[in-house]
Amino acid sequence: MAEKTIVVCDVCGKPATETVTIKVARGNYAKDLCTAHVTELVAGARRPRPGRPRKMTGEASAAAPKRRGRPRKTGGRKSTGRKRTATRGTAQASGSPARSAKK
Ligand SMILES: [Zn+2]
Repeated sequence: MAEKTIVVCDVCGKPATETVTIKVARGNYAKDLCTAHVTELVAGARRPRPGRPRKMTGEASAAAPKRRGRPRKTGGRKSTGRKRTATRGTAQASGSPARSAKK
């Protein structure tokens, strides 16, 4: 009864407050950390959204619409502009000189 198991911080040796699980390619590691080192560890860490472990594609698609959506809008405007210049003049990039030359 006298024995008392004290969880100690694996970094500094102080009494640990939390046990963190680190997932690495090799496997999972458990590490006991004190409050200071937990905050230190969490400081540079990001939070994977819980409940969506299988939606790796969902994260990719979530990131994709931002990239796809903006180019589509700008691309659509540019394409319409190009069509107008294309119909008026054969030169697409130098549309304004072509107009002045025709006029
Ligand atoms: Zn510590």
